[in-house]
Amino acid sequence: MFIDIIKSYDWQTTTKLIYSKTEADVVSALKSQNRSIDDFMALISPAAEPFLEEMAQQSQQITQRRFGKTIQLYVPLYLSNFCENNCVYCGFNTQNKIKRKVLTYEEVKEEVIAISKLGFEHILLVTGEADVKAGADYLKKVFEIIKPHISLISLEVQPLKQEEYSKLISHGLNTVYLYQETYNHERYPKYHIKGKKANYENRINTFEELGRAGVHKMGLGILAGLEDWRTDSFFTALHLNYLKKQYWKTKFSISFPRLRPHTGAFEPNSIMNDKQLAQLIFAYRLFDENVEIAMSTRESATYRDNMLKLGITSMSAESQTNPGGYAHPEENNELEQFSINDDRTAAQIATMIRRNGYEAVWKDWDTYLQQ
Ligand code: SF4
Repeated sequence: MFIDIIKSYDWQTTTKLIYSKTEADVVSALKSQNRSIDDFMALISPAAEPFLEEMAQQSQQITQRRFGKTIQLYVPLYLSNFCENNCVYCGFNTQNKIKRKVLTYEEVKEEVIAISKLGFEHILLVTGEADVKAGADYLKKVFEIIKPHISLISLEVQPLKQEEYSKLISHGLNTVYLYQETYNHERYPKYHIKGKKANYENRINTFEELGRAGVHKMGLGILAGLEDWRTDSFFTALHLNYLKKQYWKTKFSISFPRLRPHTGAFEPNSIMNDKQLAQLIFAYRLFDENVEIAMSTRESATYRDNMLKLGITSMSAESQTNPGGYAHPEENNELEQFSINDDRTAAQIATMIRRNGYEAVWKDWDTYLQQ
C-alpha cells in the first residue's frame, strides 16, 4: 500500500533533496527519454526555473502528440454544502455559520437541465463531506436522474467504501477526484481539525478502495497554499507512480487547485506563483505523457488562455460553486464554497479555445466508445 511507501520518506530530507538539484540534473532530465521520479524532482526544483521555455516547448509537443489539439470541458454541479469536517481553508467547514443546503431530487433535475442547456456532457458532482446528508444512496439516486441528460459523470465527494464505489460505477460513475490536500503527515492535522478527513491514513488508503473497485479514472492533487508545493508535488507524483503500477487499467488526472478567497479567513502558508504553477504543469507532462491535467475556474481567464496549449487537457467552465447555482443563481449565491476567478460563459470559453486552433470537446469519446 502507498501508505507504507510514503512512511519510508522523510519530509525534510525530501525537501532538501529537491532544493539541492543542480542545472546538470535538470539538463539530464530534459534529455531523458524515460523520465524517472528523480528527473521529476529535478524538473520541479528551483534549478529548473531558467529552463521554463524549453520545458514549455516539450510539454506542448508531448500534449499535442498524445491528446491532439483538444480541450475537454466539464462543469461542477454542487449537490450539497453540508460538511462534517473542519478544514481551516474551506468555506464549507462545519464551523462556518453559513446557510446549508442539499439539493432535493427535483432540484437536481432542474440543475442538470440548466447545465445541459449550456452544452455540457461531462458533469462533476461535488458535495461537502457529509455521509448522512449526501451519502452513497443519495448519490445513486442522483445518478439515475442525471444519466439521461449527461454522458459522463465524475465525483468529488467524501471518501466512500470499495463496495459503494462499485455500486456507483454500475450506475455510470466514470471518474473520482480525491485530493489529499497535503502529503505532509505531521502538519496535516493543523489543516484538518475535525471529522473523518482528519484521518490522513484513511484518506490515502481510499485510493486503494477506488483502484480495487475498478474506477475508470482517478484524479489526484494537493491544495497549493498549505505546504511547500514542490515537496507536496513530489509526493503526488510518487503516489501517481504507485497507483499506475498497482491499478494499471485505471487512467489518471492531476489538478493543481490554488487557494481562493472564501467565507472565513485562512492565509496561505505557502505561495505558488503563476510561473511556478506553469513549471509544475510542464514537469508533470514531461514525467507522464498520459496523465490528464485539469485547470479549473479558480485560475484567471488570462492565465487559463495562456496555458491552453502548453500541457493541460481539460478545463471547467461557467462554474457555480453553490448548490442550486445554475437554475436559481440569485437565490443561492450565499452558499458558495469559494469565489471563482474566470467567470466567462461556457460558450465564450469554447470560442476562445476554437480561436486558438483547438477543439472544445464536450464529451469524453474514449469512455463513450467503451460502453
Ligand atoms: S474541503 Fe471538503 S471536507 Fe474540508 S471543509 Fe471543505 S467541503 Fe468539507
